[in-house]
Amino acid sequence: MKRRDAMQGIAIALLAPWLPVGRALAAGLGFAWGAVPTIAMVGAVDDLRQALVRDAVGFWNQTLGELRTGFRLGAVAWQQGSVPDDLIVALSESTLKGMKRSFPEQLGSIPGDVVALSDAHFISFSMHWSIGKGLVAIQSSLAYPLTLPNVARNVIAHELGHAIGLGHNSNPTMLMCGRPAACRPTEFQSATEHYFPLTDDEKALLLQLYPVDWRPQEMIRH
Ligand SMILES: [Zn+2]
Repeated sequence: MKRRDAMQGIAIALLAPWLPVGRALAAGLGFAWGAVPTIAMVGAVDDLRQALVRDAVGFWNQTLGELRTGFRLGAVAWQQGSVPDDLIVALSESTLKGMKRSFPEQLGSIPGDVVALSDAHFISFSMHWSIGKGLVAIQSSLAYPLTLPNVARNVIAHELGHAIGLGHNSNPTMLMCGRPAACRPTEFQSATEHYFPLTDDEKALLLQLYPVDWRPQEMIRH
């Protein structure tokens, strides 16, 4: 079955501020949003991942609120669009190899930030381009390991964490654990639905990327 949902939004990005040397800050991906990303979902209305994306956006906005930054992810809305399966698979493989790909023109027709809920066979990933475009692709929640309880919700929250600028840590009890550490999505499995936490370093990094006085800015191109 070819069912594909995509989520897209109008968003503006700029590169992250310089990180001071000598502080044990968490790894960042080198960018921060300069405006509130507006998120639009596209695809099958019965896809379980749509509710999980909305919930994960709520998780991040609650977290950002607790940090007292002015930055938030925007409202989630429905919008038509799609990302080809072969493109998603190719970008996922590039991400696993640590390769940065140029912005694929197939995404050009979709304004703003894109989250694709795909049924293609790939490992979920997040990409960001300095032109102010992002892509988050979530693998099927109907196939292992996202069928395990509590895994899909944390995989989606993890990828949204990349989408706002967080990198990986190596602690398997934390949300942003990932390569090169050995932690994998199966470690999110739990009989109790809950989000895995952020490290103190990641919270400090988020406040550096999105200070308390953060306000939407004009787009800065690099
Ligand atoms: Zn990751």
